[in-house]
Formats: sequence, C-alpha cells, structure tokens
Amino acid sequence: MTALRTEQGEAPGGRGPVPACGAGQGGAAAGARSERSPLLNAASAREYEALLHDVVDALGRRFRTVEAPVSGVSRSDLEEQVARIDLDGPAIGHEAALREAEELYTAHAVWFHHPAYAAHLNCPVAVPAVAAEAMLAAVNTSVDTYDQSTVATLMERRLIAWAAEQIGFAAGDGVFTSGGTHSNLQALHLAREAALRRAASRTEELPRLRVLATAESHFSVGRAAHLLGLGTDAVLSVAADAEGRMDPEALDAALAGVEEDGARVMAVVVTAGTTDRGVIDPIAAVARRCESAGLWLHVDAAYGGGLLVSPRRRHLLAGIERANSVTIDFHKTYFQPVSSSALVVREPRDLAATAHHADYLNPVAEAGRADSEPNQVDKSLQTTRRFDALKLWTTLRALGAERVGEMVDAVCDLAEYVRLRLEADPEFEVLGRSDLSTVLFRFCPAGADEAAVDALVPEIRSRLFASGRAVVARTVVAGMPWLKVTLLNPEATLADLDVVLEHVRTAGREALREGCGARSPGRSAAELAMAGGERG
Ligand SMILES: *Cc1c(COP(=O)(O)O)cnc(C)c1O
Repeated sequence: MTALRTEQGEAPGGRGPVPACGAGQGGAAAGARSERSPLLNAASAREYEALLHDVVDALGRRFRTVEAPVSGVSRSDLEEQVARIDLDGPAIGHEAALREAEELYTAHAVWFHHPAYAAHLNCPVAVPAVAAEAMLAAVNTSVDTYDQSTVATLMERRLIAWAAEQIGFAAGDGVFTSGGTHSNLQALHLAREAALRRAASRTEELPRLRVLATAESHFSVGRAAHLLGLGTDAVLSVAADAEGRMDPEALDAALAGVEEDGARVMAVVVTAGTTDRGVIDPIAAVARRCESAGLWLHVDAAYGGGLLVSPRRRHLLAGIERANSVTIDFHKTYFQPVSSSALVVREPRDLAATAHHADYLNPVAEAGRADSEPNQVDKSLQTTRRFDALKLWTTLRALGAERVGEMVDAVCDLAEYVRLRLEADPEFEVLGRSDLSTVLFRFCPAGADEAAVDALVPEIRSRLFASGRAVVARTVVAGMPWLKVTLLNPEATLADLDVVLEHVRTAGREALREGCGARSPGRSAAELAMAGGERG
C-alpha cells in the first residue's frame, strides 16, 4: 500500500518529533507527542480531515486490490505480529499508528464483500452507511437522553416507527440495540415482566415460566432465559418438521404439556430465518395459537427481517404483524455495518418494563409529563448508546427500501441457484431448501463412506480457510456435519459461486488423496486433530 501521510513535524522514520523552537513540552522523552490536540475539536479539525482522508485512501486501495476473502496467513504468524507491537513503547503519532493498524488489521481481515466469502451471516456494507458511521463516530452522539442527542433521538424514533410500519404494527415502538442477541434478551425480558405482572408472587412464578421454541432457534434464546433467572429447563424444544420449521401440532402438544405440569408459558419464540437452515417457522399458525391462549409471541427475524422490504418474498413473513415483539438485525439483511439491530414491539406500553429512572438522566418526576423530554434510555437496556440508526437512515434515503429488498431477493436467488447446482451434482448431497440464503451440503464422492464424508466436512472448511481460497462454514444438523454457505453478497455472480463450489470439490479431493477420512486405525490422535482443526 502507499504509505499514509507522514506526520508533520516528525523526524524521518517517524520516531519522535523534530524539536520545535520554543515548544514547551517536546523533546525525545515525550516520544511523538505533538503540540496539537489529540482530541477532535476546533484546533484539530484540519488534522482530523487529513487523517481520515488518509485512512479512507488506504482502505479504498485495499478494496480495489483485495484478491481473497482472507489472507491465509497462519494463526501463529498473526499471533506473532500482534505480540510484536509494544503497547507500552514510545508514542508513534497519529499517522504512523493508523498506518500500522491499517497494515496489520486490513491485510489479514476477513472480507465479507469478496464473492468467495460465504460462511456466516455477514454482509458487504452499503457505502452510505459506512460514511454515516464515520459521521456518527466523529460527533459521538449518545442516544440515551434527549439532552445528549436531540435530533438523533427523533431520527431513531422515526426509523423505529418505519420498521414497525413495515412489520404491520398499527402503533409500534422499539429501540435500536447492539444485535439480535441483545434484542432477543430484551424481548424475553419484556415477556417475563408481562408474565410476572399477572402473577400473585414473582418469586413463586419465576421457576414455573417456560419458553417454547424449536431446537433450531438461536442459542441466544436459551441464554437469555438463563440470564433472566428462569430454570435450567425453562426453554422447551418444540418439534420441527423435516425441513426444520416449527410443527404447529407439536406446539399444541407442548402447550398442553406445560399446562399439565402446572407450569406457565412465558413466550413462544418463532424464528423467521433459522441460522443454519434459513427456514421460517409458520408464523401465522403459531400466532393464531398464541392469540387464543393469550401468549407472548416473539418473532426472531434477526436474519429474515430483510424480507420486510423484499418485492418478491414479503409474503413469507405473513403473520409477523401479530407478534408482540420482533428482532431485526439490520447488520445482516439490510447491509449495515455492525452494529445495527432493533427490537420492535406491537404495544408501546410493553416497553415500559425496561424503564429505569435516574435522577441525573431521566428523573421520574419529569416522566409522563406532556412536555417531558423523549429519552430513549427509558426503552433500552443500554445507557450510553451509539446512534446506529443514522446508518440505516442514510441507506434508506440513498438507495430506497425497495432497492435493499431487491438485494435481499438477489441473495435468496443465489442460494436457490447453488442448491440446484449441488442437487444436480452426483458428488454432492444437499439438506433441505432455505427460505433465505443458506445452503447445507456435503461432498460425497463415489466410494467415500459415511464416516469419510463426515470427516471431509471440517477438513474442507479448514483447507479453504488456510489457503484463503474461500471461506465457508460448517455445522451439525440432524446429528450430521454439513458444510454451509450463507450468501449475503447480492453482487456475487453465478460464476463466482461456481468457483467456490469447485474450490470445495478440489479441497475435498486433495483431502481424500492425503488420506482424510480413510479408515486407518494407525492414525495418531495428533493427526486426527490436525485433520479436524485449523491448518497452519
Ligand atoms: C444472528 C442471529 C441472532 C444473533 O444476532 P447477533 O446480531 O449476532 O447478536 C439471533 N437470532 C438469529 C435467528 C440469528 O440469525
């Protein structure tokens, strides 16, 4: 890369300042400490501009020249490079520090925009959102109280109202959060409080509360239940059909079982886009049951939330407007930089369970007054909180929601293409069919037995990662290991994906040639561990 600009007043080589005439605190002992303010303010505004331009230039060059989704440099090499940097050493100045970070970090980053990145739920990011990220970082707004944010609070509220409208809530409310994990935790907190409000005794009721979800729901649901003080067996697994969607009749049986046990259902969680199989639970059928039994319905649409703006697939979310709460991760299917997620509720008053009043922020004496300030901290589990909403705001203004939805459709189409390709290929086996953009598959060439095919799954992933050729994921579904691709890059082409699949095949063949999966009782434990783990 071309070097970032050399810091003014710095000696050649970037070590220490050129002693400035009459400068009070300079000198070698101060390292590269400059006379300028290190903080962003009027005095440093020009330097801020220059530094940011340099960083943006370096990143631009990086994006123009990145050739692989990951460098393939071994973990031990990276550990060494990271350890080599002396954090207690003499200061090196802004430009050198940024240059060093850019070289270390971005040279080895995992690039989600690269068409051979197809592992997890990470997306390439919308350009206006990245620019907005720089804006909100510089201003450093905290959207906890109005007196720290003013218009930012109003913009976040407007965007939450927009999201609620997309869901179909007549008058919803909500708040931006750090991610789906956090949104799910808050949703279940609200559900718990709603359940406990109806109980005679909180302490007696708490251990009786149950959450119903399928085994394919996100692990954050179980962890939230644990954090909320529910019993270890509080999350009951509702059976799914062969495709991995919640079976409504199994839900009926589970509901009856809870009643028989003298327990109480705190919430039913349906997943709109399971993390592995990318399928959507039957939202409307579950909503009907929740309505008739008076149960809290949470829709975890962390992944599938992008379908809200899809021109061709919006119907897959039919019934979502009957939920009590909905999780949407904008940093998945709205092409936003991490972090950007929201929890949206149908009944604004349900959010009150989150409220906490502190005299120095949002005093209870002022709450509820007609002229009281709108304080988002009343609705959030966080206090200081980023103005992440600005990124989605600019994206919607710049591209329009429909364009975002078309991008979601495009990644779903790509997944369908990959599925059909793999199904037509005798060397591959495919599991099910996604409603979104994942494909689960195995490489099973003629002659490989089941154990060999199992062993090839982690082996292929490791080989591809270690070589930097492609990044794919692996998981276990229905007791079997599967390779997984998650497609969130709407600009990847069919040819790009063919290349990834050929990389998978080649890696599989190499592994077989080198004995992976062969029945060889003589192999040492170390060799087996090598085959399953990362290669260096
Ligand atoms: C990704 C995901 C989550 C967790 O979201 P984070 O933003 O990673 O915290 C929750 N539920 C589902 C279905 C997801 O796909």
